[in-house]
Amino acid sequence: METRFRCPCCGYRTLEAPGALALCPVCWWEDDGQEDSDAAEVRLTVNGALSLDEAREHYARCGAAHPRFLPYVRKPQTTEL
Ligand SMILES: [Zn+2]
Repeated sequence: METRFRCPCCGYRTLEAPGALALCPVCWWEDDGQEDSDAAEVRLTVNGALSLDEAREHYARCGAAHPRFLPYVRKPQTTEL
């Protein structure tokens, strides 16, 4: 079984490595290493003006890190829970 890392936004195990700038297919958050300790910070890098806190709120509400990502996201697979 391969070990995967939890996406800091949606919490599913979709990432090959932490902070590797990979795009999470479930919520479309790009993992730039932002975590709980600095979740409120807006880094203005790969996730634009989205802070991790905001992305989590969006995911809880609509199922994607931002409503504009909804066309791209997919449901988590059972192996990612
Ligand atoms: Zn995610």
